[in-house]
Amino acid sequence: MNTISTTMNNHHRSASVRDAVALYEERHKATFNPKAALIDMDGTLLDTMKGHTLAWHRLATELGIEATRDEFYLYEGMTGAATINKLFRRAFNRDATREEITELYARKTGYFNELPKAGTIPGAATMIETLIRRGIKRVLVTGSGQLSNLERLDTDFPGGFAADMRITAHNVSRGKPDPEPYLKAMALAGTSPCESIVIENAPSGVEAGVRSGAFTVAVTTGPIPAEEMWKAGADMVFPTMTAFAEALPDLLSNNRL
Ligand code: CA
Repeated sequence: MNTISTTMNNHHRSASVRDAVALYEERHKATFNPKAALIDMDGTLLDTMKGHTLAWHRLATELGIEATRDEFYLYEGMTGAATINKLFRRAFNRDATREEITELYARKTGYFNELPKAGTIPGAATMIETLIRRGIKRVLVTGSGQLSNLERLDTDFPGGFAADMRITAHNVSRGKPDPEPYLKAMALAGTSPCESIVIENAPSGVEAGVRSGAFTVAVTTGPIPAEEMWKAGADMVFPTMTAFAEALPDLLSNNRL
């Protein structure tokens, strides 16, 4: 790690909610007034990332494409089509056809569904309950199109996400790290960037949130280090979802600590 860049990055890091909000407001020349939370699914609400990396790695191996399991953590947030194209360009110097994408994503989804059902991320239910209680709108924002995961949200997070408050792989043309998914989520919620909190667990999702202009919170729930979240521009980084859930009432308050 380069010492100079670390020092420079530290300059923008804030331990307290109050400092992070002050920096955000200074940078955006606007008041932070949270009215909606735009929330990623895999790795943020559901502990599904291990299963996704296993399924992707199995698919790549079958296709004869050299890949490590860990690299799929880095593609987190990208749509299935974008991940398949990334593998195809590397191995075959071309994009996959529409038919190949449909067939291969279905295969990957099948491999994922063969694995034991993943749990929810500890602290995620408390976070959602706090948002509901405080009257903060919730929008799901995921690059996933996997029905098995989308359908379980109603059971895992009752009242968390209305059917018309979900941005999935089917609603976006450019996935994360493009800001499009989060900008579309703001349009659904009827909020401006300074009224929106993005909650993410992966650098590409953090980058999408930051580029959308929202206050972007990163939570490290897997092997990706906090350093990568700061580099992607996160306004705050929490070591666990439980720690973020504890800090959330303060972030939503007008009188921050
Ligand atoms: Ca994620």
